[in-house]
Amino acid sequence: MRPEALFPLYAEIGVLKGVGPRLAPLVKKVAGERVRDLLYLAPQGVIVRRPATVATAGDGEMVILTVTLDDHLPPKRQGQPWRLRAHDDSGWIYLTWFKGFGPHLTRQHPTGALRIVSGKVERFGVETQIAHPDHMVTPERAGEIALHEAVYPGVAGLAPRILRKLALEALDRAVDLPEWIDPAYLAKMAWPTWHEALTLLHHPVAEADLDPRALARRRLAYDEALAHQLAMAQRKQARQAEPTPLIPPSSLAKALQSRLPFRLTGAQMRTLAEIRADLMSGRRMTRLMQGDVGSGKTVVALLTLADVAAHGGQTAVMAPTEILARQHMESLAPPLAEMGVATVLLTGRDRGPGRAEKLAQLASGAVKVVIGTHALFQDDVVYDNLRLAVIDEQHRFGVNDRRRLMAKGETPHLLALSATPIPRTLELTLLGDLDVSRIDEKPPGRLKVATTATPLTKVEGVIARLDQATRDGAQAFWICPLVAESELIDLKAAEARAEELNARLPGRVGLAHGRLSAAERDKVMADFASGAISILVATTVVEVGVNVPNASIMVVEHAERFGLAQLHQLRGRVGRGVRQSACVLLYAPPLGATAKARIEILRQTEDGFEIAERDLMLRGGGDLLGLKQSGLPHYRFVDPILHADLIRAAADDAQLCLARDPHLTSPRGQALKLLSALFDWKAEDPFAEAS
Ligand code: ADP
Ligand code: MG
Repeated sequence: MRPEALFPLYAEIGVLKGVGPRLAPLVKKVAGERVRDLLYLAPQGVIVRRPATVATAGDGEMVILTVTLDDHLPPKRQGQPWRLRAHDDSGWIYLTWFKGFGPHLTRQHPTGALRIVSGKVERFGVETQIAHPDHMVTPERAGEIALHEAVYPGVAGLAPRILRKLALEALDRAVDLPEWIDPAYLAKMAWPTWHEALTLLHHPVAEADLDPRALARRRLAYDEALAHQLAMAQRKQARQAEPTPLIPPSSLAKALQSRLPFRLTGAQMRTLAEIRADLMSGRRMTRLMQGDVGSGKTVVALLTLADVAAHGGQTAVMAPTEILARQHMESLAPPLAEMGVATVLLTGRDRGPGRAEKLAQLASGAVKVVIGTHALFQDDVVYDNLRLAVIDEQHRFGVNDRRRLMAKGETPHLLALSATPIPRTLELTLLGDLDVSRIDEKPPGRLKVATTATPLTKVEGVIARLDQATRDGAQAFWICPLVAESELIDLKAAEARAEELNARLPGRVGLAHGRLSAAERDKVMADFASGAISILVATTVVEVGVNVPNASIMVVEHAERFGLAQLHQLRGRVGRGVRQSACVLLYAPPLGATAKARIEILRQTEDGFEIAERDLMLRGGGDLLGLKQSGLPHYRFVDPILHADLIRAAADDAQLCLARDPHLTSPRGQALKLLSALFDWKAEDPFAEAS
């Protein structure tokens, strides 16, 4: 349901003058299907023309001249331009055409006539010329030449100037709308109204007006951020509409905590408190716990599910792979069993009577905790009282997987775990409708991973050291990059590397890659985990979170091909045991500046959040490609980095508005509804739809 006030803006572009079957597809490609899309099409450039005289026009300057035409000089030979000599009181100039000339020029612009001409001036010695004037009109039509002309992104077959005309027509159709920005904030920022901002957008008078930091652009970016944050806040509101029973902190969790061989870190305690506040809020929890591999997320999940179990509820802990599920089982089941809480593992391997038995225990409620993979939400799996879903590596699951698991209970709480830190700067943009806890502190006593960068030319030395270290009982990962376009070639490289290492260290090397079946891969991983092999050569399939405490060396071949976050993840797989660990980044020289900066950051810090943030800054506003793939919305005006302050303000504002006026019925609420409809946010973040 679209508000009537927006009908003119939601009309199809076909209503605009001159947009017929030929232009429509081109305009659609550049801007979109509706008048609104042209209204919101931001110019990329601006031409500034200065009225001048021939003598005062600077070389390279865009000027407007008033000249008298003297003489047409058609080309004498192939390849020569058509030249038209003209003058004003200050001097003379050639207007030249290298193509598109002909006798029509003499007819349209006869000798002796007065013309207003615009174009870029070029000076060669004593000669001055304008090649291909962009305007050349009689004095009566001088008004057609704009002093400032916005330049729109073009596409083959569609001149930017046509887009400009259409954008200005869209602007004409935009009636003023009621203000949706809080008046005090608007005044503080000294922003123009919506309509004024659009007018400024389409009438830039200098390069500075194109900057995302220009007032008009900031206002429009704020509008966009507000619409987005409002959509996310509404989604959250809808999710929390149904009340849930209160789950208080339990003596079971307390007992478990007191038996831990360590004390919780501050970050773990804070996160647990945040989760407990959710469970006592009477509303459904949708919380993401972020923290590096090894930061201790599992323990926090354990204490949470203990609270749920003590309250009579069931928890499903879902991991993306069997090996991760088994690791969770190994760390969670024993302490729970000691406290009399039954836990089962359910994976694709369970079949026949064994599986039937487990399902019966789940359906009866005899089992309070089930750990597994996709097997957890298959059709015939029935829960007695599923109250909590813990999803490890949540981004590895599809929307439907999560939805199917959640559908097994009545408004179950969701606790998602992720070892991929989202930079703080992007948190509201990417995760605005979730509650986020950050475990940004490592358990004490962890040794720093010694990180070095070594050119591939010195790989022999690395292998020799590996040989020695593995003889002393160490284990190592050796990661070979996989670049999608040439998977086979990459695979060959990994195979060759494994063979070479195996020749040097016979019987001690295994190879894991994406072409192996799940069972084959699990076998190699299990051999590595048990210590049967010392070196695991792998393409990047090494499971995130896989725990091999004895592995203390991480070699990354062609480190320059990996992103910073990826390198950090890889390095996180070592340094978990008692051995001093090392990470060797093998690179193909020479290193580019960015690759150098990346490696330097890695050497400086092991904090995943800081690395993610610095990676983002390194990439800057330009290359946000990787982030787009990770769900960054396709904003028109918002630059998540340059407008970080606006996004924060918009999130606060959206929450405040909904808290005060949940159905947006007040005058400002009505205006906000207009804003929402104007931007028309689709739920882009699949995680948001999970519940
Ligand atoms: P994550 O799931 O975040 O990768 P885990 O929960 O598996 O991390 O924890 C990694 C290791 O650190 C485990 O062996 C765990 O027992 C241990 N650990 C967790 N919290 C602490 C702590 N506060 N102090 C010491 N060791 C801890
Ligand atoms: Mg883990």
